[in-house]
Amino acid sequence: MASPTETPQATQTVIEMNDVFTRFGQHVVHSGIDLEVHQADVFAVIGGSGSGKSTLLREMILLQQPSSGSIRVFGVDLKNIPDEAALALRKRWGVMFQHGGLFSSLTVLENVGLPLREHTHLNDHLIDETAVAKLALVDLLPEVGAQYPAQLSGGMMKRASLARALVLDPELLFLDEPTAGLDPASATGVDELILKLRDRSGLTIVMITHDLDLLWRVADRVAVLADGKVQGTGSMLELARMEQSAIRSFFDGPRARAAQQQHTVPNKHEINKEPSSKPKSTIH
Ligand code: ADP
Ligand code: MG
Repeated sequence: MASPTETPQATQTVIEMNDVFTRFGQHVVHSGIDLEVHQADVFAVIGGSGSGKSTLLREMILLQQPSSGSIRVFGVDLKNIPDEAALALRKRWGVMFQHGGLFSSLTVLENVGLPLREHTHLNDHLIDETAVAKLALVDLLPEVGAQYPAQLSGGMMKRASLARALVLDPELLFLDEPTAGLDPASATGVDELILKLRDRSGLTIVMITHDLDLLWRVADRVAVLADGKVQGTGSMLELARMEQSAIRSFFDGPRARAAQQQHTVPNKHEINKEPSSKPKSTIH
């Protein structure tokens, strides 16, 4: 086996999907999905409404099984995975669901602390202390912990949900539409948060989004999902140069052009420094 010194650019594959098919009755959602997510990448999945993005994510986090094909996360095959192995995997990832997924009958602090109650033996005091620290990480004041989800604004709900996703210090973070439904200022705040998280060593982020600003700002690699398949994968700059019509549709509208211009033209040196060329962690 090659030693790390011989392969300094080696990247570790965190998620690998091969030939994944998903059918709901007659409706074929995925017809042969192949993708790889590398360690420490911000990997984004884009695609039209109903193209199967959330379903793909649910399959990665053991909430749903594909009809056929294989999915490996941290090298573990998710098919017929024993309960104990599934539990061990769940401790290694955090998920922020499209609609927050907070329990309405629990306070924000109780929601954020919930994974610690499920997966650790920490006492109540330590759980609350850790939950407050995670609220601070997502820029929520400690007093927000006493509130119930219904009392929060959309942006605060996303942040609280993110705090819960981070409470076990995951190696892998899933974000389903992290900025959807937010006003532009709140969305920018969430962008900043994701950028802050991206710089934490080794964290791999998989996100689903339609948000072009978010994609240009934080995504290292982007997979375009259409017609049941991944139509292309690359940095936003690489995708912007691709010809397939399913990919072009994301780059050719006036809003898409404006976002591209805003995120490429003012920083000319950034154009040559593609996000995908950032140094990757080597395998130790
Ligand atoms: P996206 O997140 O890209 O908008 P989804 O993954 O939520 O799309 O859904 C993809 C397609 O699969 C949609 O047509 C949706 O109606 C269908 N679908 C998703 N989940 C189910 C389910 N549990 N049963 C039947 N159809 C489903
Ligand atoms: Mg969705």
